[in-house]
Amino acid sequence: MSGRSARLPRALSSSFVLPTLAAAALVVTATGASVAESPPALTLDFTKQEAAVARSEEAAEEATVSDLATRRQASAMQSAALQGRAESQLRAARNAARKAAAEKAARAKAEQEGKRWVEALRGGRLTSDFGPRWGRNHDGLDIGAPSGTPLYAMSRGTVVRSFLHPTFGNKIEIKYWDGSVSWYAHMSARLVRAGDTVMPGDIVGRVGSTGNSTGPHLHLEIHPAAGVDNPMNPASWLRSRGVMGA
Ligand SMILES: [Zn+2]
Repeated sequence: MSGRSARLPRALSSSFVLPTLAAAALVVTATGASVAESPPALTLDFTKQEAAVARSEEAAEEATVSDLATRRQASAMQSAALQGRAESQLRAARNAARKAAAEKAARAKAEQEGKRWVEALRGGRLTSDFGPRWGRNHDGLDIGAPSGTPLYAMSRGTVVRSFLHPTFGNKIEIKYWDGSVSWYAHMSARLVRAGDTVMPGDIVGRVGSTGNSTGPHLHLEIHPAAGVDNPMNPASWLRSRGVMGA
């Protein structure tokens, strides 16, 4: 056994070199470390401070960017909110205008509706005309109809009187929007009171034979104004309003 045979295999030998190099590197490192340790501690602190400053500057920059984004977002949200508010106000204004127009139209329609003229009763038959009768003037029209037949307000107006009269029986007086007044007499029922407002076609009473009457009929008188007993021929009055009566 020579020393050569005792030598380590080549592979091991070469691997042995590596620790040697590693050791040398360690030495260098140790030397470097000793070099680094030799300058004043201030240098290292300065480097740390620089890094800290750099970090804080970076953070500040990030914060600025983030702040800008936040502000941009807030601004966008604000303008969206403003736009939304403006749109909502516009919508509200449009709705209000539409509602006002609809109300105006409804009022105009109601006004027109209120000025409509309708018949005092449907069906019925003229039994006595306006004019001289039995030695005196018959101040209205007599329209025969079954007892209980509904009697309607001929247009929009106010009930002036509603009472039981000795000869007219159950009687109502309605003053219409144009100032003229109708009297309904001999009714079996009065369905309105003085002061009531009526619209065209509202039922105000029923045909009857109360007071001085020989059978169920409506005695209809027309006066040009309230409180004035100045009867006119209802036929011409009805005709001028497009209502021929019974
Ligand atoms: Zn009569």
